Order: sequence, then structure tokens, then C-alpha cells
Amino acid sequence: MDNAKVIYLEISGMCNAKCPYCAQRRLRLENHFGGIMSPELFSQLIDHLLRLQIVHDNCPSTVNLYNWGEPFLNPKINDILRFLASRNLNATISSNLIAKANIHKENYPVIEGFVFSISGFDQKSYGRIHGANLSQVLENFEELYADFRLYSPKTRILIAWHRYLFNEKQYRDAFKYFDRPGITFAPTVAYLNDCVEMWDFVKGNLPRERMASVKKDISLSHMRKGIAYSKSKSKDYYCPAWDHITLDETGQLLLCCGTTRYDSKYILGNLLEMSKDEIWQRKKNHPVCKECVSSGLAQWLFDPPGFHSKPLLLRFRARSALRALIKKVPNGDKIIKGLG
Ligand code: SF4
Ligand code: SF4
Repeated sequence: MDNAKVIYLEISGMCNAKCPYCAQRRLRLENHFGGIMSPELFSQLIDHLLRLQIVHDNCPSTVNLYNWGEPFLNPKINDILRFLASRNLNATISSNLIAKANIHKENYPVIEGFVFSISGFDQKSYGRIHGANLSQVLENFEELYADFRLYSPKTRILIAWHRYLFNEKQYRDAFKYFDRPGITFAPTVAYLNDCVEMWDFVKGNLPRERMASVKKDISLSHMRKGIAYSKSKSKDYYCPAWDHITLDETGQLLLCCGTTRYDSKYILGNLLEMSKDEIWQRKKNHPVCKECVSSGLAQWLFDPPGFHSKPLLLRFRARSALRALIKKVPNGDKIIKGLG
């Protein structure tokens, strides 16, 4: 292994949202609220990765300034962006935009990608997950969008629309609202955004009360069917996260972006004290990975089955053709309804 394929560097372990299906919830219940990374530590970590040639020849050229936290809560974010520019690197930021961005205009072009996560398009739905004021968040988005168009029109903006059982009818309004230059609208079906909870779910160990609250909002059958399908394809699966570097806000190397600073079993060491071999060896030989891959979870998380999956696409086409045929026979509509 030479360079990293993806880097997640948590510049703020704190988050100002209240999403009930994120690992932050588990951490909050333990009174663990996370900290802020200083620009000094950030520069040491990047320079260490450059020295070890885990980042080299501008590969990867962008650093994700997040994992579980809200990057705009870091008051020194402009120093961090300036430092990246000095090393000829870019940033990708994922934000809930509950806080205003406060980026200096000269730093906008350093941001190559910006992801805005949103869980509903009325206050009831949005508040149910993010627990914040939707009008204020959209106002913050408008300000930031105007600045991106002005100072860095090439920045790719992605709207991560989280699909829950209760917000499906709002999809169209949200899609229309964000249908403008420089924006890609990307819906994803919500799931338990926490490897520790997902492992419990896969093993059937999620507590009954938790299960009852999850199934009100999230499609459990979507998760079950997807993971079962991935499991059937997971033999010899190579988890892409083995080639990623994920660092918490204190500079600890985590096993992958699905694990947190709080889960000591998945903390592999202080990056600044590790050699290149140590970094890759500790990542590749973690006992939990074998279980994660064989359960289908790793593949489901990184390569979920979808329309890009040839077997599924063929099945979908065959099903549509069959339904079109059945529709033509007497009572065809009823037969199709019966098929589900
Ligand atoms: S999903 Fe994102 S916005 Fe919500 S609590 Fe987790 S890190 Fe914060
Ligand atoms: S196999 Fe699972 S635990 Fe291991 S790195 Fe991949 S996602 Fe993380």
C-alpha cells in the first residue's frame, strides 16, 4: 500500500445537531461531546502524512475535514484551509449548516466539495432528526451558496437528502428547491449511521426499545435485504476503508470512518508516533473486519446494491417486462397488486 485513497480528518469532534440515528447520539448519552482540533495539530498531521508519503504527488488531493463532527464549529477553520492551500491540497466539507459558515472569501476555492445534509423539508420532519430550525438552516445555506457562486463556482455542492419513512412526500419539493447550478441532489436511504449499532443490528442484538424507535423512522427491510444481498456477494470483499485514513480531533488513527474516538477498541494509535508500516498493518489486521466483511455490512456500506449493480438492474428490467405483459391479460392490474 502506498498512498491513502481517502482521508477523513476531524477538525471538530463536536456536533450541534441531535440526529437520533448517528453515533453522536451514543456518545452524547455517555456525556462525551468531543473537542476541536487546533490548526497546529492539523498542520503536524498533514505534514506527517506527506513525510510518510501517505499523501504524495497530490494524491489524494482533497482532505475531508469531518467524520462525526460539524466542521463549522471549529473557529480556526480559515487557518486550516489556508494551511491546506500552502500544501497544494484541497478540502471537502460536510455540514448541517446549523451554524453559519464564516469562511473568508480567499479560502472558498480551497473547498473542492461541499456536502449539505438535510433530513426533511418542513420543520416537523427536519426537527425530528436534526433538532434545529429549518428556516435558519436554509438561510445559512443561501448565504453560503451565494458565496460559493461568487468566489468559487467550481466547488461541487452535494445535497445529501436523507430519506426517512416520514419525509418521502417532501422529496419533490426539496429536489425542486435545490435544482440550480453547481448542485447535485443525492438522496440516500437513512440507516443507523454508527458501525457499533449496525453490528448489533446485524447480529440481532439491538435492544428491543431501540428497535421499536428505529422502525418508526427507518426502513428496516431496506437494511435487512441490502445487507443479506451484500452478504451473498462478500466472499473475498476488499473493504475500501482499509485504504482510508481516519483521524479524530486529537490525532488518533481510527480503524475506519464508521468508528468513533469513543470506541477504544478501534483506536489504533497516535498518528504522529506511527510509521507507515505500522499504520497500514494495524488497519489491515483488525479482528472486527473479518466479521464485518463476512456479515455483508462492509460491502453494503461502501458498495450498496443499486441500479449500478448489473444483476439487480437485469432483475428490475425482467420484472418490469413481466409486469407489462401481465397488465395486458384480463384482471392484470389485480394480479400485479397481488404480487406486491
Ligand atoms: S448525522 Fe451529522 S449532523 Fe447529525 S449528529 Fe451526526 S454528525 Fe451531527
Ligand atoms: S471491514 Fe468494517 S470495520 Fe473493517 S474497515 Fe471496513 S467498514 Fe471498518
